[in-house]
Amino acid sequence: MITSTGLPPPRYEPTRGLALWGTDEVQAALEVVRSRSLFRYYGPDLQHRADRFEQDLASTVGTRHAIAVSSGTAALACALVGLGMPAGAEVIIPALTFVGCVNAISWARGVPVIAAVDDTLTLDPTVLDALVTDRTFAVMPVHLGNVAADLDPILAVARRHGLRVLEDCAQAAGVSYRGRRVGAIGYVGSFSFQLEKNITAGEGGALTTDDDGIHDRAVRYQDQGGQFTTSRGQTRGGDSPEPFVGVNLRMTELIAAILQVQLGRLDPMLERLRTVAGHVRAELAGAVPVWRRIPDEAGSGGDVTMLLGTRIKARSVLSALVAAGVPARTPYQGQGVYANAAVRDGRTAWGSEWKRPARCHATEQIAGGAVTIDLGAAMTDDDVSWLVDTVRATLTATGVEATDPATAS
Ligand SMILES: *Cc1c(COP(=O)(O)O)cnc(C)c1O
Repeated sequence: MITSTGLPPPRYEPTRGLALWGTDEVQAALEVVRSRSLFRYYGPDLQHRADRFEQDLASTVGTRHAIAVSSGTAALACALVGLGMPAGAEVIIPALTFVGCVNAISWARGVPVIAAVDDTLTLDPTVLDALVTDRTFAVMPVHLGNVAADLDPILAVARRHGLRVLEDCAQAAGVSYRGRRVGAIGYVGSFSFQLEKNITAGEGGALTTDDDGIHDRAVRYQDQGGQFTTSRGQTRGGDSPEPFVGVNLRMTELIAAILQVQLGRLDPMLERLRTVAGHVRAELAGAVPVWRRIPDEAGSGGDVTMLLGTRIKARSVLSALVAAGVPARTPYQGQGVYANAAVRDGRTAWGSEWKRPARCHATEQIAGGAVTIDLGAAMTDDDVSWLVDTVRATLTATGVEATDPATAS
């Protein structure tokens, strides 16, 4: 089959939770539909699916609390509200990330400050000190593509300056760093369950925290300031010590039921992906001299990213891989999040709110030379052998050798 782009379709589906979707997800969804109780806080025959998903997620991540919400962007905004961020405060994010990080900060009335990434493709801890001002409130490491950011040095900088740490775990549910799950290491963690993520119900998000105060504020914010916080129909907004107005970011029972099934698939899936990734990198060791650095390999969820050093090499390898049916990409086209015109100019729905950020040349250099091969959770052993053979043959045919990004021009 040839697709409308003239390219062959990928040999395997490059998705995670979605590739494992089965009859259990269908059954769980049907139960909720039959109960006619899709609202999480009351209904004729409430199944308490959102409550149960929150409990399961908290115990998987290892936090006291989890709050299910409508999206990953909502979870990030809710987390900033939970942290008590004042309007106009600054939040440091990595340049290589999804625009949702900026959108959530703007929604919570903060200002994004963009920092370089290093050869982990995550926040470079060495650039943080210089970005801290008297308005800096938080730092938001993003665990990109199932690889945890190097949190220890980031936490050290945060401690030194009294910054909150909000982990964006949208692309790394279930991943660990030095024996702890991401989302349990900073003050608060944020997750997305959009279609491309590790576990999915099409949309959805959650935040995790050990802190009762963050939990209380966030749970009220996502529910109109605390309208239906208990399933017994009691409100909390009125008797709370500091009531404030909220919005509606609530998760539905239908989404929660599907996510609870998907969550049960997470650990075996990550173990398989980690094994596959390790095997692919080992088999290609001679052909690819420089791989993305992974701060905690044993805790990762399986990454195969070559750092080829230059944009020209990455383009030629990428187009040959895609032509051969390998699902591959250069992360965010090797561009900083400020490549988005609204982000660059600080344009929000209410007007211009921040000045043009400085470009991160080191980030563009490293990311522009990167090629990530997307693995699929349902890959067979045959798919894996095919992948190794195809990538090796492609690299030989393109004659590309990796160049150390530090010395590439
Ligand atoms: C997907 C994603 C988000 C946002 O999640 P949505 O559920 O799409 O709102 C935030 N941050 C990162 C890094 C993501 O990949």
